[in-house]
Amino acid sequence: MKKWLSILFISLLLAASLPPLAPQAAVYVLTKTDTVIYSPPSGGNEAVLTPIAANTNVKVIEEQEARIRVTWQGVNGFIARENLLMEENEEPAPPSSSFIRLEADAELLEKQHGTYVKTGRLLTGEVFKKTGTENGYVSFVFGQTTGYVAEAAVSTLSEASLAGGVQPGYTYQNRAITRKTTDLLYSKNGTLTPLGRLQSGVALDTRAAYRDYYIVDIGGRTAYIRKEDVTLYTGNYVDPFKTITYTQMVQDLKELVLWHPDIASLEVIGKSVDGRDLYALKLGTGKEEILVNASHHAREHITTNVVMEMADQYAHLFKTNGSMNGYGVRSILQKSAIYFVPMVNPDGVSLVQLGAGSAKNKAAALKLNGGSSNFAAWKANVRGVDLNRNYPADWKNICCDPGKPSSQNYKGPKALSEPEAKAMADFVQKRSFKTSASYHSSGQIIFWHFYQSGARKSRDLAIARKVSQKTGYSLVAARSNPSGGGFNDWFIQNEQKPGVTIEVSPYVGNRPVPLVYFSSIWQQNNSIGLMLANEKIQ
Ligand SMILES: [Zn+2]
Repeated sequence: MKKWLSILFISLLLAASLPPLAPQAAVYVLTKTDTVIYSPPSGGNEAVLTPIAANTNVKVIEEQEARIRVTWQGVNGFIARENLLMEENEEPAPPSSSFIRLEADAELLEKQHGTYVKTGRLLTGEVFKKTGTENGYVSFVFGQTTGYVAEAAVSTLSEASLAGGVQPGYTYQNRAITRKTTDLLYSKNGTLTPLGRLQSGVALDTRAAYRDYYIVDIGGRTAYIRKEDVTLYTGNYVDPFKTITYTQMVQDLKELVLWHPDIASLEVIGKSVDGRDLYALKLGTGKEEILVNASHHAREHITTNVVMEMADQYAHLFKTNGSMNGYGVRSILQKSAIYFVPMVNPDGVSLVQLGAGSAKNKAAALKLNGGSSNFAAWKANVRGVDLNRNYPADWKNICCDPGKPSSQNYKGPKALSEPEAKAMADFVQKRSFKTSASYHSSGQIIFWHFYQSGARKSRDLAIARKVSQKTGYSLVAARSNPSGGGFNDWFIQNEQKPGVTIEVSPYVGNRPVPLVYFSSIWQQNNSIGLMLANEKIQ
């Protein structure tokens, strides 16, 4: 009651202090809600002329009982009285130059770090509501930001109707990036017609989804963009709870780079036997670099899920300035960079996941597999070389070699005979990694030792212990005569830096680790990349 009284009192005070309206002044009122302007009823039908948003100033022409005739942006029609705030409003800013009309096709620009950058094109004849003028450009609303065209390309209008209109009532909103050159469309008598186009790689905010389109506001109008032409920011591109094929991985990697151009980049470090590109994803901008790789062994492809999920979550946490297990992602990735090679053996992984049909030479793959079409136990690359026995680390003395191509354990005709192993070795030699983590399955153990001694041995043991503490996996004891040929054997020997081979999952036999294990594996390993990147290694 008290509140009501005080509101009434303040209203009276305000009313008393306002100057009286001049008798001839046009009367403007505000819409109370998102509503519509409709045509005069004829034969009981009212046609919607245009939707109109809440808090829009409309000019009153005539008051009728339940409806008010108004004009707004060239539209003359009725709004239900209940949808208007029937208190006289100040006349809006003089409309002398509220609109622009393109007199020629014009570049659509946005401001990036103070410079006007071309992002697309708008077509001759199109009309937009302008918001301002600066430095020879006219500005207007574009998504949640501002678009510009050169003042020289436009004429100004005081009154205009905006083709396509504004659709009220949407709350859904998402950040999108165009995947390719994309049409900006508007509804012209129900047909979507171009009003301009955007270049590939332009970031914008969508306001709503409508069938196969996203809606973007541009200069007071509703524009449509085909969903297939853009990608949305979700902060979650990798689904680690399902099998990740090579094709899926490549798509996810490209999505990550598209959304995180400030910290992520993608490099092809070589090709597999069957010609698949071998990808390294770099995450971070710092000098100290580490390497995290997975799926040397085909049937161990759940390790690709682990590494891809790391990249996905770290990138999102960087963007949102978040942390994981106490590791501040942004500060770590500004001081360091993590290189992820999530699938060293894509041909082998494809054999396991998709069968012989994934190989270029299907007959040869089937023959190596003893005629069986079940490749679940396969570890090697597509021509039967075990990539984790192909590195030049005491390669001559590798134990238990079958001496010929096989689904597992064959070390190859010579060290680095395989393009996948060669690509990894070349990549390591090109860079200067302070640590390497190689993901395998299974056994829940960590290999870390390959003939290093003294200070290097204690340094590397300390790192391995930290990984062990986080994962709960046990360290494999240093042996005087380890079997070599593994990636980390070579890394430890050649780079003289710590390399840990992390075997996730309990032993599950000669088959891929079932996806139901992923949750626990993720809990054990999620921050390993950040932990290693954060370590000081001398
Ligand atoms: Zn393995």
